[in-house]
Amino acid sequence: WKMTLKNLGNLPVIPLPESFALTAAYSDDPFPNKVNLGQGVYPGDSKFLTKARELLFGPQIASSENIASLQTVAGTGANHLAAIFCARKLCPKNVFISDPTWDNHHLIWKEAAPNVTQKLYPYYDPSTRRLNFEGMLAKLESSAEENDVVILHACAHNPTGIDPTREQWKKIAEVVGRKKLFVVFDCAYQGFASGHADADAWAIREFYSMLFTESSSSSSTPAGMFVCQSLSKNFGLYGERIGALHLITPSSTSPEGARAHLVQLVRAEISCPSLFGARIVHTVLDDAELRSKWQEDVRIMALRIKSIRALLKSELERIGAQGDWCHIEQQIGMFSFTGLSSAQVQELREKHHIYMLSNGRMSLSGLNESNVVYVARAIKDVL
Ligand code: PMP
Repeated sequence: WKMTLKNLGNLPVIPLPESFALTAAYSDDPFPNKVNLGQGVYPGDSKFLTKARELLFGPQIASSENIASLQTVAGTGANHLAAIFCARKLCPKNVFISDPTWDNHHLIWKEAAPNVTQKLYPYYDPSTRRLNFEGMLAKLESSAEENDVVILHACAHNPTGIDPTREQWKKIAEVVGRKKLFVVFDCAYQGFASGHADADAWAIREFYSMLFTESSSSSSTPAGMFVCQSLSKNFGLYGERIGALHLITPSSTSPEGARAHLVQLVRAEISCPSLFGARIVHTVLDDAELRSKWQEDVRIMALRIKSIRALLKSELERIGAQGDWCHIEQQIGMFSFTGLSSAQVQELREKHHIYMLSNGRMSLSGLNESNVVYVARAIKDVL
C-alpha cells in the first residue's frame, strides 16, 4: 500500500508483530495466575515515552489523541525512521533541507530515502551572518509542492546557532500549512538554547497549536508532522542512544494506523529499543526533586555555553583580532558558526593543533577558561 496526504490520519491499524501482540494481550489479561511464554525480549519502556512526550509538548498537548510516540535509537534513529517512513509511505517528491545543516541529514535521506530529491532552502546569509528568512520562505513558496517534506531544527540550529524568531516561526507555520507540506522537526538540543526546556520547545508547540488542533483550518492543515527527539545531550546520555519519534496527524484523526506501520519498521530494524537510557530519563522526569535538579543542570549548561561565547568574543576583541565577533555571542546553542574559511580551519589544525569542522563550526563544549586565550590567539594568527 501507499499512503497519501489524505489518509495518513485514520489509517486502518495493521496487526502488531505476533510477539508484541502476545505481550500486549498478556498485559491486559486480569487472570491472577497468567503466564507469558511468548516473548523472548522485554517490550521497551512506555513510561519513558509518556515522560519524553510531556517534556517536548507540555502536559496539555502531550495528552492529545492525534500524537503517536515511539522510542528510537537516539535522535539519529528518529531521523532515520522518519526518513524511511516518509520515503516508503508518503512518497514525497522532495525533501527541503536547510543550507547548511547537520551533515547527517543529507546522509540519512540519501541512504534511507533515495527516491526523494534533496533540495536546499537558504538559511544562513554569510554576508550578514544572520538568518536569510526571506530567502528561506521564498524557496518554500516557489519550489515546495504539496506532500513535500521540510526539515526544521526546533532550536539551537546546527551548525549555524541561528534560530528564527517567534514571529518568523509563525510565518513558516503558515506557509507549511497553506502549502500542505510535511514537517520533520529535529529537536536535538532542548534546553541548551535558552536553558529552559519549555521555551526551547516553543516552535514545536506553536506548530501543533496552529496546524493540528480543532481550531486549525482544514484547508491549511499539513498531512502530518514528525518530531525527532534526541535526549543524548540534554540528559548526558550520548552513549545510551536514547530518543523518540512523535507523529502528529490532523486533529480528529487517529495516528494509530500510521503508528502500527512505524512499529513494523522498528521491529524490522532493531526489534526492541534499549532500556537503560529510557529508565534513566523516565526516573529523572518522574521524580519532582530529580527533575528540578536536572532542569537546573540544563540551565547551568546553557549559561556555561553563553559565558564561554562571551569570553571568546571579548578575548578576540582584546587582542585585536580583525573583524566583528558579535555573532559568536549572539548565536544560540552548542555551536558557533565562526565564519572562518576552510583554509583557515585547516591552518588552525596544522599550525595550532585546533580541530573544528571545515565549514567553520566550532563546538563550544571543547572550549574552556584554560584554552580560550590559546584559541583566540590562534584564530587571530590565521585570519
Ligand atoms: N539532529 C541534530 C541537528 C544534531 O545535531 C544531532 C546530534 N549531533 C542529532 C540530530 C542526533 O542526535 P543523537 O546524538 O541523539 O543521535
